[in-house]
Amino acid sequence: MTPTTPVAPTGSERFADAVRQAVTEGLLGEQQPVAGFIDTDGVRGSVAALRAAFPALPGTLHTFAAKAASLVPVLRLLADCGMGCEVASPGELRLALDAGFAPADIVLDSPAKTREEIRLALALGVAVNADSFDELRRIDALRTPDSVSVLGLRVNPQVGSGSIGAMSTATATSKFGVALHDAGAREAVVRAFTGRPWLTRLHAHVGSQGCPLELIARGVAETYQLAEEINASLRTQQITSIDIGGGLPVNFADDTVRPSYAAYVAALREAAPGLFDGRYSLVTEFGRSLLAKNGFIGALVEYTKDAGGRRIALTHAGAQTATRTVFMPDAWPLRVGAFDSQGRPGTGPLLVQDIAGPCCFAGDVVAHGRELPELREGDFVVLYDTGAYYFSTPWAYNSLPRPAVYGFARAADGEGVRFAPVRDAQSLDSIAAESGLAHADALTRLTSGASGI
Ligand SMILES: *Cc1c(COP(=O)(O)O)cnc(C)c1O
Repeated sequence: MTPTTPVAPTGSERFADAVRQAVTEGLLGEQQPVAGFIDTDGVRGSVAALRAAFPALPGTLHTFAAKAASLVPVLRLLADCGMGCEVASPGELRLALDAGFAPADIVLDSPAKTREEIRLALALGVAVNADSFDELRRIDALRTPDSVSVLGLRVNPQVGSGSIGAMSTATATSKFGVALHDAGAREAVVRAFTGRPWLTRLHAHVGSQGCPLELIARGVAETYQLAEEINASLRTQQITSIDIGGGLPVNFADDTVRPSYAAYVAALREAAPGLFDGRYSLVTEFGRSLLAKNGFIGALVEYTKDAGGRRIALTHAGAQTATRTVFMPDAWPLRVGAFDSQGRPGTGPLLVQDIAGPCCFAGDVVAHGRELPELREGDFVVLYDTGAYYFSTPWAYNSLPRPAVYGFARAADGEGVRFAPVRDAQSLDSIAAESGLAHADALTRLTSGASGI
């Protein structure tokens, strides 16, 4: 896999004041060697850019894909900005409700919905997009006439893959949705809407990071054309809304936001001019593009060493919080910033260094051979553009704790930033509890039927 964009060797000025103050206030340091940070003004700005780019047609619902930052305070901030929420598991649905989203503003897209999950969503009035004909049949059986849930069907327009296979949901053999170009599929979709007057939405999420705008727009255009075809065939506008998914890619190479939501809307207008003429309400489900550039990870450099002619900085940010980057470094390169022990931008001589993490496997390196100001014990590194899918979804490898997360905003007087806790760092007690402490004796007490051995 090749990176979609080259990675700049040095980091960003944008969060320098927040890094400095996090170190000064001890949110980053020996006691807490790694933490995630979210710029709340930045999040509000990204939501405003999304709203400004899409025409404000009646019924438009911009949802946030909860998996991109599954933290209740972040979801509540987005609800406060007027967003809805896209959820894909019972846990995400619970977080969305706890965050305060109205059920009517929540869309359930789990790929493997249980009957219980469907039943709950229908009882609450949460919108549901069925992923398959089998799931539609479950909805047939579970739906009561008084349900107010908007119900849709997810299709896979099979427009192909972007540069990261694992992020491409519209390949010929993708597990998601009804594969539209398979023999007989289109007719079967039309039949599915016939006789189900309550089925009023088409859904497609074409891809995420690595998918060019034109590819995503083509998938949305195919979905729009299918809606037109179904409505024409039913001689009524049964399909009243189209959920175009999320997936706007993010630029990980520098601070500029590109592509913009406005560029995406322009690509959609070109591919499907009728999409915005007001006959369909639109639902969007963006995740990464709303949060990625509004967050960063800060981590202490615990040690440095030389090995085989390479300098290595051993930090506390590794695969537990940058999982994709560690396992697929070419697909998910991150910009790294070097800061001194006071949290000031590093000024040492530039040196080629590996930025390694705390996990016990050799591949736990978040940046290979990166030219950065020389790092020393007690310095800090910052991983930029990690506001989505990084610290919010840590990996429990090595029983490493989930890192703390803080939100921050510029102080009203322009002097410095103010922090607020979003998630506490995980305690050792919590790690032990999650690791079966309550059942500590369970296996030694389990007497085998073949006793006497
Ligand atoms: C992951 C996902 C999204 C969000 O994708 P981003 O690339 O983060 O914008 C939206 N819809 C569905 C169905 C998803 O699975």
